[in-house]
Amino acid sequence: MLIDYHIHTKLCKHAVGEPEEYVEQAIKMGFVEIGFSDHNPMPGDYDPENRMIVSQFPEYLDMVCELQKKYSGIDIKLGVEVDYFPKYVDYVKKFVDENRFDYVFGSIHFLDSWGIDNEKYIDEFKNRNIDEAYKEYFRTIKNAAETKIFDIIAHFDVIKKFGYKPENGYLDLAVEALEAIKKNDLCLEVNTSGLRKTAGEVYPNDEILQTACDLEIPITIGSDSHCPSEVGWHFIETIEKLKMMGFKNICRFSGRERSFVPL
Ligand SMILES: [Zn+2]
Ligand SMILES: [Zn+2]
Repeated sequence: MLIDYHIHTKLCKHAVGEPEEYVEQAIKMGFVEIGFSDHNPMPGDYDPENRMIVSQFPEYLDMVCELQKKYSGIDIKLGVEVDYFPKYVDYVKKFVDENRFDYVFGSIHFLDSWGIDNEKYIDEFKNRNIDEAYKEYFRTIKNAAETKIFDIIAHFDVIKKFGYKPENGYLDLAVEALEAIKKNDLCLEVNTSGLRKTAGEVYPNDEILQTACDLEIPITIGSDSHCPSEVGWHFIETIEKLKMMGFKNICRFSGRERSFVPL
């Protein structure tokens, strides 16, 4: 069953195209369900150039609501991609509780002030010990999973986006974060946008996906589309791979209730 839960809108200031174009692309490709999951607003001093501002949030809600009315042939969910950032935990918890989302992604885009998946900060990889950076990143994912604010952990190993990776792999650095996802009954996103980046592979990598499968961690799938042509990016081959690994189901969400459908 074709579902794409990770679609952005131009409100985040780094996506292009009208929201209708994303929906129409999804319909054309045979999707039965999609979800918008734009970056959540944050108090002013945090990353304002990559997200809607607080006062634009009603516009986001209206936009998704209008699309739901306009397109009856496809189920359109209201999601959100929320940054886990320790100093804003209370803010985002309140934000998530106050709104009627279908699902909430938890993402790490920053380690302190270092935007790990932002080209502007790419040189920082040359200043860091890569193993230590990965260790800190996965520790942050573990902390995010333990907050219980989120339904799905997004792009689990996005720190590899620009191709900087520990020489000997990183499953051992990631395993505690995976276990925290399992223990807190969260879902793991299989995010195909890594195939469009230097990383050249899905987030997370095969070794981590296989471990997630063995741990029976539920998954869902997202393209992280920032333009309409990216909807469903390489989903067919990715779904085939997931089936080969042993995954049988994929998660859907409605009003933050999870259900499963066969892959
Ligand atoms: Zn993200
Ligand atoms: Zn995203």
